[in-house]
Amino acid sequence: MSTNAKTSEKTFKRNVSLTGKIKFTGIKLKDPIRTAAGLLGIKETLRHTFKEMGIVRSTRALLDMNQPDGFRCPSCAWPVPKETSKIAEYCENGAKALADEATIQHIGASFFATHSVEELSQLSDYELNKLGRITEPLVLRPGKLHYEPIAWQEAYELIAEELHKLKDPNEACFYTSGRSSNEAAFLYGIFARAFGTNNMPDCSNLCHESSGVALKNTLGIGKGSATVEDLHKAEVVLTVGHNPGTNHPRMLSAFSECKKNGGKIISINPLEESGLVKFKNPQKVSDMLGSGTAIADIHLPVKINGDMALMKLILKKLAALDKERAGNVFDHEFLKRYADGYTELMNDLANYDEADLLARTGILEEEIDKVVELLASKSKIVVCWAMGLTQHKNAVETIQEFVNLLLLKGAIGKPFTGTFPVRGHSNVQGDRSVGIMHFVNEEFNRRIKKHMGFDPPVEHGHNAINTIKSMYEGKSKVFLCLGGNFLMAAPDTEYTAEGIQNCALTVQVSTKLNRSHLVTGKTALLLPTYGRSEKDIKMGKTQFLTMESSTGKIRQSRGLLKPASGNIKSEPEIIASMAHAYFKGGHPVDWEAMANDYDLIRKYIDKTVKGFENTGERSKGFGYYLPNNSRESDFSMMPNAKAKLTVNRLSETNLKEGELLLTTFRSHDQFNTTIYGLDDRYRGVYNERRVVFMNEEDMLERNLKKMDVVNLHSEYGGKKRTAEQFLVVPYNIPKSNIGAYFPETNLLVPCDQYDPHSEQPMSKSIRITVEKIH
Ligand code: SF4
Repeated sequence: MSTNAKTSEKTFKRNVSLTGKIKFTGIKLKDPIRTAAGLLGIKETLRHTFKEMGIVRSTRALLDMNQPDGFRCPSCAWPVPKETSKIAEYCENGAKALADEATIQHIGASFFATHSVEELSQLSDYELNKLGRITEPLVLRPGKLHYEPIAWQEAYELIAEELHKLKDPNEACFYTSGRSSNEAAFLYGIFARAFGTNNMPDCSNLCHESSGVALKNTLGIGKGSATVEDLHKAEVVLTVGHNPGTNHPRMLSAFSECKKNGGKIISINPLEESGLVKFKNPQKVSDMLGSGTAIADIHLPVKINGDMALMKLILKKLAALDKERAGNVFDHEFLKRYADGYTELMNDLANYDEADLLARTGILEEEIDKVVELLASKSKIVVCWAMGLTQHKNAVETIQEFVNLLLLKGAIGKPFTGTFPVRGHSNVQGDRSVGIMHFVNEEFNRRIKKHMGFDPPVEHGHNAINTIKSMYEGKSKVFLCLGGNFLMAAPDTEYTAEGIQNCALTVQVSTKLNRSHLVTGKTALLLPTYGRSEKDIKMGKTQFLTMESSTGKIRQSRGLLKPASGNIKSEPEIIASMAHAYFKGGHPVDWEAMANDYDLIRKYIDKTVKGFENTGERSKGFGYYLPNNSRESDFSMMPNAKAKLTVNRLSETNLKEGELLLTTFRSHDQFNTTIYGLDDRYRGVYNERRVVFMNEEDMLERNLKKMDVVNLHSEYGGKKRTAEQFLVVPYNIPKSNIGAYFPETNLLVPCDQYDPHSEQPMSKSIRITVEKIH
């Protein structure tokens, strides 16, 4: 799949591939491995790190990762527990992320002189990532096919010049990935505002925006309330739309601790993922010698997007039991004191037919009844969820239905209860806390004005979806990206690519090459930055940065490895230098000073971001928790000062004849858009990513056999989208459902189909057809 090559000067477009050359890599299928981690996990950890980093460098870095004075894992946002293992406070996937960033493979100007962007775009995402760290700033000039070196100052001047050319500051967009630090994200957000725009799309627009909106609507804060300690002692944990064995593996230690304390784990997911079947904790000799810990007590294989129907059915059954048991199932005292909307919710539930709800779930009623009985008798309940719940067209309302359960059970604001949206990237939550948002927070704006001396813009800006649309329509002309791989993370790959290519300038602050560096604006800058494990010394002083975990805890991160090159720079320095080049001293903020001393950035954070007072000091060691009203049962910011039970509509999937509902997910050798390897051992697929996981009955109906090659098509609003060439793999997935890897199938996700409350794209429920290729 290629964009068209056009030769005229004005309309020049590079003939770059959005997929790489499609080829099969030699698939092997085996039985899925049902026990997560264990010896195989240790073997894979060492294999990846030793191969990418060498033994000495790996050992030094691994011993430092997630330690109190060390650096934070560059992968997910799982918090470090109070009792840290001195040897291995990380998982296989954290180690893979470290190896990936601290690799000794490097590429610089000579590499790009011999490889054009068109040629490089023929590589797969896996092959691109394997090329190694970028070691110097590079520019792709208009009409050119090769990146060439550029001096840092010239790069900053070029950005400033393009920004000055814009007629309106809203013609620029400032994207942030969740890899960034609080300091860099804060500075970047302040630069965007000082420049004059709130166009700050970020990766949470693509993953957990719906969680933020649902939680804010109901509990007054867009973050989860439960901590790891709450998980340890909860009586029941619901883990929904979530594959922790691959995406946040250390969460399995918390689940096993919960099991040890007598808690029950309920897994709700279309696939029965290995991490939730069994886990062997590599830090425990007893686990390694024995058969490990069984994690999920009950697995409910819900149909894709059947979660709302399931929760309505559970609530309906609980309401009936509450009547039967003289009001001893719901926490009526809590409801009276803390929540609004009980009568409306009960009236609404009465309207639903249980048989219809059951049919929508695809689950056996006796399994649901076991869960109902368990929930009826317990009150220390935590609900965890991830993108299996957040990336649907009705995501906000579905999450709200799970909040209904917690409120009815009085399982909010007490020990061992609460909400736990499990965030993906390691600082995605922190970015938002320190000001990366496309909407206006008036209090934050007031503080910026008071402490930083300028008036921030007061109109809402673009989120990710609106940024894509705006670039496509030619309204956004400069696109800056602080990390990430926006093109591949976004929905509707072809549409997004066209938008990006319409830009006059695209700027990527990155560690390694990815497809977003090859599908670019007319001019493109590639500004290489430090990995989190690298030592950052400024004016003779080792700098540290801070991050926020999934549970809202702020901690320091201090790298120890020698940077990949002497010609790369830290994110705060790059941002401060861009701002300095743009304002040239004509601005109340002293940008230049902040490039060299992150304490100065933190001084501004202390004053402008609520809850971050004295953050440099308090983030030492095990850090500190940010204020969280729902953890304290404080709903004073809500109407009537109460949490809200909500009435949510049940949406229809409306599959047409022959259609299947596609969910996208990651393989075990992957983190977000970064592909570390081609295996997915927990699902039994090796050396291949172009696969679709199909129910055998669906295969039979379509006359498909294992390893047949198919094209996948989606059609929305009359527009047909195609993802080519996938191998059929029979799998235990509900009938009419089908699964495939992200980002290969993002091509099928329409940009204009999203949750209306959060504008979160619906990557987990795409109607598709499967066409056999001969
Ligand atoms: S659980 Fe997440 S944060 Fe912890 S080591 Fe693994 S990938 Fe890193």
